[in-house]
Amino acid sequence: MPAVKRVLVVGAGVCGTVLAIALKQQGVEVDILELYDEVLGVGVEFSGNTMRALEQIGLIDDFIAEGQPYSRMNVHDSAGNLLIGYDFSRAASPQYPACVAILRPKFAGATRRRAAQLGIPLRIGMTVTELVNEPDGVRVTLNDGSQDRYDVVVAADGAMSDMRTLLHGDRFRHKPLGQTVLRCYLPRLPEIKDELNAYGGRNVVTLVPLSRDSMYFPLSIPMDPERRFEEHELVPTVLKELEEFTAPIFDTRKPSRKKRDPSSTGSQNTSATGASSAATAPATSEPKRVPRSTSGTSAPASPRRCATAARVSSTRSGNVVASGSPSLLPAPR
Ligand SMILES: Cc1cc2nc3c(=O)[nH]c(=O)nc-3n(C[C@H](O)[C@H](O)[C@H](O)COP(=O)(O)OP(=O)(O)OC[C@H]3O[C@@H](n4cnc5c(N)ncnc54)[C@H](O)[C@@H]3O)c2cc1C
Repeated sequence: MPAVKRVLVVGAGVCGTVLAIALKQQGVEVDILELYDEVLGVGVEFSGNTMRALEQIGLIDDFIAEGQPYSRMNVHDSAGNLLIGYDFSRAASPQYPACVAILRPKFAGATRRRAAQLGIPLRIGMTVTELVNEPDGVRVTLNDGSQDRYDVVVAADGAMSDMRTLLHGDRFRHKPLGQTVLRCYLPRLPEIKDELNAYGGRNVVTLVPLSRDSMYFPLSIPMDPERRFEEHELVPTVLKELEEFTAPIFDTRKPSRKKRDPSSTGSQNTSATGASSAATAPATSEPKRVPRSTSGTSAPASPRRCATAARVSSTRSGNVVASGSPSLLPAPR
């Protein structure tokens, strides 16, 4: 029997849910409280030791099935020249791919399903309002006024942790470092098979496949993370921040045109290629908010169409998410 018998985990995010599963597998009784009923965010990538941890708690096959496995990361300059390529093939277990990228809501769905299978109660809309350390454990008061007692309480409520404030006041308040990430969800370009990073000035762009049809496109820029964007500002901001990236895949100004083959008599495609136009279309979404596409098209949208369609919401962690019109996106898989 473990010395710790009863644990309360506050926050059903990445760490909270995985920890709860691992504890339950060790015979510990666990409850999880989660304040919000919606899972925000776009993609998340896991590699190496994280993959081994997922294997240990029996979730790795679910992630490989629901996400997109890959084993390489290539780093480019803003013109597209390859600076270095990493092959992570041996970073996870020999029988598994090194990395998996997955939509955050799918990650949450898989971990929460496993927690439910193990009989771990997840109480949505709930949090702790008071914590009192006692000699034999912790007395907690919840937001519905009820009280309980646990051997250990784990604060897994994220970077802006309310539990940290409850315990320490303003002593360990988070300090913005001046970087923010605009996270986009796009139709997948055929050439994106692994993770691609590109550095342009102080901006970093990443492209990662999330599924057969979709990819994750976080753009890291130096900007006050507390800044919130109006809807009409987001797409122009992304396009402006991409200006330094001259590699064809990031060409936001001139749609690349196929050269007319003089020997051909047929009509040539002179419109934007899938590669260039898709890369310019910031159309992000938490899939929960994006109904399945009725148009059934995965055709990349032009930046202008996306600019009209995009809407913006701010995540609780301060990042900005742009959501594209469902008709411009393939449904997340
Ligand atoms: C833009 C960005 C990209 C990232 N990409 C990656 C990546 O690719 N790979 C990677 O490994 N890491 C990535 N990270 C880091 C990773 O997201 C964090 O390390 C991880 O989410 C931390 O897990 P957590 O459980 O501590 O917090 P979170 O995952 O943030 O979970 C906190 C949970 O607590 C809930 N909560 C908040 N307040 C309360 C409250 N008062 N009571 C109850 N519940 C509450 C929240 O709703 C949430 O569900 C990224 C981070 C950012 C910002």
